[in-house]
Amino acid sequence: MKRENITYHAKGVPLKVMGWIISVVAFIISGLLIFSLFSLSYTYQEVTSSTQNYMDVKDVAGEVQSASDYLTEQVRLFVINGKEKYMGNYFSEAKEKKTRENALEKIHENLKDSPMHETVHLAINNAVNESMKLMDLEFYAFKLICEDQGISYASYPDVANADISAIAPENRVLEATKAVFGDEYIRSKEVINTNVNQAITALDGLLEQNVLQSTSDLKKILIFQTSLIVINIIFIGSLIILMHVYIINPMNTTIKALLNNEKVDIHSNREFNYMAETYNHIREQNEHIKEKLVYEAEHDKLTGLYNRTGYDTLYRRMRLEKTIYVLLDIDKFKDYNDTLGHEVGDKVLVRTANVLNRFFNDENSFVFRLGGDEFAVLIENIPMDKVDEIAATCVEMNKELAKKQRAFPGITLSIGIACGEENDTTDTLFKKADIALYRSKHNGKGHICIYCEDE
Ligand code: GH3
Ligand code: MG
Repeated sequence: MKRENITYHAKGVPLKVMGWIISVVAFIISGLLIFSLFSLSYTYQEVTSSTQNYMDVKDVAGEVQSASDYLTEQVRLFVINGKEKYMGNYFSEAKEKKTRENALEKIHENLKDSPMHETVHLAINNAVNESMKLMDLEFYAFKLICEDQGISYASYPDVANADISAIAPENRVLEATKAVFGDEYIRSKEVINTNVNQAITALDGLLEQNVLQSTSDLKKILIFQTSLIVINIIFIGSLIILMHVYIINPMNTTIKALLNNEKVDIHSNREFNYMAETYNHIREQNEHIKEKLVYEAEHDKLTGLYNRTGYDTLYRRMRLEKTIYVLLDIDKFKDYNDTLGHEVGDKVLVRTANVLNRFFNDENSFVFRLGGDEFAVLIENIPMDKVDEIAATCVEMNKELAKKQRAFPGITLSIGIACGEENDTTDTLFKKADIALYRSKHNGKGHICIYCEDE
């Protein structure tokens, strides 16, 4: 079988390209969503840790103040009531706990990368230095009271180093009181307070700035995330629409067309369009083949007239009471075959068919070759009183056929005509026409007889 090369030019968006675009968009949206989630969690952690950091530093700055105040309180209590435990408390804080030195270190550590590091560190450093400076006055006061009360200060070298030689023994308590309650002491305390407050104010500013910056960052990420979610919803919606337009609907249309054996009429993606074009082409070819096969099955190859199969099909469908049956047989056809050859016989058959077609060419007339040299003409939807006209046509036709041709001789047909009646079957009507034909043959051939009831 010859193979046909068909080139298709299916239009439409290729499903493959669409699949790639959808995958890339989904990948980008998912990537951006994951990225925004990470940056949200990172920013949140940054905010909480830096806020916590500033708050810790603020606490630490406050500790410098508290430690300084604690030392002041202990030294003053010692000066007032001379109880050794206050001196113990003082040195335990100043030399063991070292809150102020530790605070300075912590601030330096925690604010290393902060823009306000210099300011805060300097302020706290000043406060600590001032507090350290103040300690000389406090050691001085401790020594004065210890000497006055006879308390041992051997374990406190700083106290021992204080110089109180210029103070008369009776003035020791007064001098100690002046040292820790006097103007110089109070001024120093103010310097400490001012510096600690400066540091705390700077830290507050940092905290506020940090909160504002973080809030703005979080807001941006949230807006970004919300936009992504909206885009994602639109994307999913579009995907559903695309799926219906490009896959589900064409699929349903195709299935419906296949079930009904109809042409697939879709304008969708390239792959579906290609499939539809291919199917339609194959279907069209099959239709042609089917039509050809039906034609060949119902027609006689030699004459082109309906054959016995075509006759059976058409005759069965006819309304017999409105049908005139004309049965025709070539007279002495065998002789032509025998004397002039089979080929001439064939030509005689073809010519007879052509003449029959010419004389019965209206839409109600159907011409058949029933076999051999026997023909039939069925005239449908015709009033029965037209039978004489049909007979007259047959006479004319016989005259035409009787004319001699160059290639072969003239011929005659014996013809039997029968009119269909209410009670007729295909067989009875045929039989009537056959009886009439027989009478024609009997009458000497070339005759035309119409069937009568009394026959
Ligand atoms: P009658 O006048 O009584 O009809 O005699 P006839 O010679 O026509 O006899 P009959 O109808 O019996 O002869 C039919 C002949 O037709 C017999 C057969 O050889 C011949 N025939 C049948 N089919 C064909 C065909 O397709 N081509 C040719 N050339 N001859 C055919
Ligand atoms: Mg014959």
